[in-house]
Amino acid sequence: MQEKVKNKMEHYEEPAPYKKDVDNPYESMMARFDKAAELLNLEKGVYEYLKTPMKQVIVSIPIQMDNGEIKVFEGYRVIHDNILGPSKGGIRYSPDVTLDEVKALASWMTWKCAVANIPFGGAKGAVKCDPSKLSRVELEKITRRYTANMLSVFGPDTDIPAPDMNTNEQIMAWIMDTYSMHAQKTVTDVVTGKPLIIGGSLGRFEATGRGVMITSMEAMRKLKINPKDARVVVQGFGNVGSVSADLLKKRGSRVIGISDISGGYYNKMGIDIEAAIKYVRQNRSLEGSDFGDKISNEELLELECDVLVPAAKEDQIDQHNAPKLKTKLIVEGANGPTSSDADDILQDMGIMVVPDILANAGGVTVSYFEWVQNRLGYYWDIDDVNRRHDRMMREAFQNVYETASEYKSTLRIGAYTFAIDKVARTLKIRGIYG
Ligand code: NAD
Repeated sequence: MQEKVKNKMEHYEEPAPYKKDVDNPYESMMARFDKAAELLNLEKGVYEYLKTPMKQVIVSIPIQMDNGEIKVFEGYRVIHDNILGPSKGGIRYSPDVTLDEVKALASWMTWKCAVANIPFGGAKGAVKCDPSKLSRVELEKITRRYTANMLSVFGPDTDIPAPDMNTNEQIMAWIMDTYSMHAQKTVTDVVTGKPLIIGGSLGRFEATGRGVMITSMEAMRKLKINPKDARVVVQGFGNVGSVSADLLKKRGSRVIGISDISGGYYNKMGIDIEAAIKYVRQNRSLEGSDFGDKISNEELLELECDVLVPAAKEDQIDQHNAPKLKTKLIVEGANGPTSSDADDILQDMGIMVVPDILANAGGVTVSYFEWVQNRLGYYWDIDDVNRRHDRMMREAFQNVYETASEYKSTLRIGAYTFAIDKVARTLKIRGIYG
């Protein structure tokens, strides 16, 4: 195993790793970080500290493939910081993942945890591989070797992984088991997003969509929109989109548009979301369904509505289509669905945007609950999980709203300002060791 560990001080002089590309969601994130840092008048040293990842680990992962060949994969873990507590963040498996991408996603986790008032720092991990071309045995070998190579990084008190793109609860179970074998005891709290039977939390599957629903309700209250009169459009009908649509409908709103990779479906009388969820469960996508008039994803985003929930992927709203939107409120279920160029346009149009680091923080909130329950060895029922989740999401919304009002900024800049201020103040009180 080759292991390169770089610590913060070794990296102090390195320039920021982000490419100058306005359509890059991570670059967009850094543009917002800079704006918030300026508003806070963040001192230069603290700014540099918060921009620089604390630790970057690269490991080689040699495994024997099913055909007997040895193949070597590359794995990463970046810990952006552990100022508020142990670092937390998902692991993605992707053939074109880069260390720069992992670094950016790790810092994103720092701000998301801080906004949600979760006592965690930020991290992210990845293995450069294409899971669609691997057998289950090969996938398990990669996961176990990656975990074994990260034993000095992962830990319930140090760094806690979770699922992300192309990883799932089975992979989390293998991570938990590998870590436990080396510790010679069962360590459930080393990873979240586990199957229920080995210490997962009730409510985790619905958590992100539930957070979107709660923050939508809070935002509607501020905009004086009665949820029962609200027309909702949801882009993406996977985990986040389908749960958001379902829960908003259950609060009385009319979901007039939904979409997935197969295109959009519009019905001004309202779509039967439960039936759509059932349809996707059976057919894997909305393709071929008749839940409404067939429209394109572009047209879906431009539908006249009260609440638009982009819950598919990054960079869906940019400077080209932002002027065409006809909504009063955008609640970002996806990560980075709006480019930073579109922010000013939406602000000028008077459209309120609940930013991703707030709107989709329900998932990491229930991941935190999973870790807490593992440590307690006592498991909450679904009502307990939802009650605590809803309270934390409402508080997070209120904190961001108040910060945005204080700085006369958008909610997005309010969220970054709240998060950066909290982490910077904690850093100052803890002091710099060295
Ligand atoms: P998912 O894979 O379950 O669903 C994605 C959905 O988007 C699918 O319905 C897919 O068909 C659709 N889609 C893909 N490309 C599209 C396109 N071009 N136009 C319209 N629809 C398209 O994924 P998910 O877990 O629901 O995640 C969605 C987004 O939310 C991602 O940005 C993810 O990073 C973010 N997110 C997810 C969670 C979580 O807990 N699942 C937490 C935080 C953020």
